[in-house]
Amino acid sequence: MAALWEQNIRKVVPYVAGEQPTDTNIIKLNTNENPYGPSPKVQELADHMDSDVLKKYPDQTAGDLVRAIADYHGFKPEEVFVGVGSDDVLAMCFMTFFNSDKPVLFPDITYSFYPVWAEMLRINYKTLPLDENFCIRPEDYNEPNGGVIFPNPNAPTAVLMGRDKVEEIISSNKDSIVIVDEAYIDFAEEGSSVIDLTRKYDNLIVVRTFSKSRSLAGLRIGYAVANEKLIKFINDVKYSYNSYTMNTPSIVLGTASIEDDEYFKEKVEAIKKTREWFTEELKKLGFRVLPSSANFVFASPRTKTAEEVFEEAKKRGIYVRFWNKPIIKDFLRITIGLDEEMKKVVDFLKEFC
Ligand SMILES: *Cc1c(COP(=O)(O)O)cnc(C)c1O
Repeated sequence: MAALWEQNIRKVVPYVAGEQPTDTNIIKLNTNENPYGPSPKVQELADHMDSDVLKKYPDQTAGDLVRAIADYHGFKPEEVFVGVGSDDVLAMCFMTFFNSDKPVLFPDITYSFYPVWAEMLRINYKTLPLDENFCIRPEDYNEPNGGVIFPNPNAPTAVLMGRDKVEEIISSNKDSIVIVDEAYIDFAEEGSSVIDLTRKYDNLIVVRTFSKSRSLAGLRIGYAVANEKLIKFINDVKYSYNSYTMNTPSIVLGTASIEDDEYFKEKVEAIKKTREWFTEELKKLGFRVLPSSANFVFASPRTKTAEEVFEEAKKRGIYVRFWNKPIIKDFLRITIGLDEEMKKVVDFLKEFC
């Protein structure tokens, strides 16, 4: 029999991230990292960092980084919150804003961390199905709710919702907080972001990350943009939990990344170009490929099951992502890597599929 203290334990089913194998010989296309690496300016600063800065606690406000992000988007520092990756930012947002008996709404096929946070924080939630093309249906997000959250582009589908439709969801939910998780928006067509709508709607929060487009997954930086009032609410929760979330190297190196816009744009364009080429190759092989606005594609093979392709690819040192779950079990999520890596993937698929 279980000990009595067990009944008082908070038991959770944790989020499962993609594997991080230690073998450096593999083609790693399973966690949507950006293969180009961060700006050389980041390397330069890292080379010259004096370890003496580590003896002191970091700036609790991460002021330099917050100002750099605010400047970059044309906002005030008071309108920006930074956290330890957007996972931390999103977790803080769940804690801060989703505090109602009514369910928080999000798509059934989406970032699988959302239900994990909701379960852990005992937040009531309800998932809504995508349409047959894996698109979010804005008209479904009209029922009474305790908040709304979705990624745009969505994950793991890579499908983008147009700005007008995102705005439809925001404007029809004026009594709730709406969080748009723009983890992949830098890979979408320009003008797809709704970050500017945080000025028009006081219930909107836009969340971004340095992990994908800035190739800094290892540094752990994410941020939220919203009006001052909402940012203050998140900060109040953060300071009630852990004052020093952002470490000094992250603040310094993250700021350097923001300042090198040329490198950033060049690498994002390179990934988009490879994505277009890779998508065409997959289609030639008979794959169904959802239209991607991200640094990965969601694709379904025709002649083999997704699981067979996943297993065989892994044997050959190519790591992609597969979920043995209803609706998406026929699909693979494949991160866009370097050109030469994607050519090897195509060669493997030509042979195996
Ligand atoms: C990768 C990802 C995140 C989290 O990224 P961080 O590395 O924690 O910044 C958040 N949302 C979505 C949809 C993602 O794909």
